[in-house]
Amino acid sequence: MERKQRVLIVEDEKNIVDILRFNLQKEGYDTLEAFDGVTGLRLALEESPDLILLDLMLPGMNGFEVCKLLRDKGKNTPVLIITAREEEKDKILGLDLGADDYITKPFSIRELMARVKANIRRVALSGQGAAQPAQEQVLDFGRLVIHKEQAQVTKDGERLELTQREFELLTYLASHAGRVFSRQELMERVWNYEGYVGDVRGVDVAVRRLREKIEDDPGQPKYIITRRGAGYYFQKDF
Ligand code: CA
Repeated sequence: MERKQRVLIVEDEKNIVDILRFNLQKEGYDTLEAFDGVTGLRLALEESPDLILLDLMLPGMNGFEVCKLLRDKGKNTPVLIITAREEEKDKILGLDLGADDYITKPFSIRELMARVKANIRRVALSGQGAAQPAQEQVLDFGRLVIHKEQAQVTKDGERLELTQREFELLTYLASHAGRVFSRQELMERVWNYEGYVGDVRGVDVAVRRLREKIEDDPGQPKYIITRRGAGYYFQKDF
């Protein structure tokens, strides 16, 4: 019998853990729980959950440290940060440290579950991807080259350090060069969210970080261009 997918909840507020556990189990997931950062990190490393819901403000080791140490140890488990509404900076820092997305307290259960499902599915899909027949495996834009099979990007022959999400976003835009995608569309196609998405700012954060890595001058981007009021597109001829 197939193992149920497991979600690790790292959160020190007991009532939130109760709500999360109840709703996750109702959707068919097993849950693991940690009420502090050290235990959360240990369970993340030892139990290999399919996804981690990670509060930022935790006793002992905070959520940022948990996320950073997890990534430093090479674990790619999807991490959704749970954060309070006013902590805008925290969301961005969390994404910088390798979290996949965030959800703001108080959150809607519907949005939370959509994000949990999408992030678990994304990992399952990227696992299958390797077995699929190749279309075009290398996207060559001169100085910038995307090697799909190796999930690597080089600029002027130097390998760029992109997160999985940044790689997927770049590859998606570059595979449809010239076409403008709205934030909502990118959330659906790159983040795998279906239908209602809610907060789409994660797209802007990912684009900003990607520009810092691929552009000569992130303030004057040449590859990933903003179409005001519409979204983003990849420009291959400039
Ligand atoms: Ca907390």
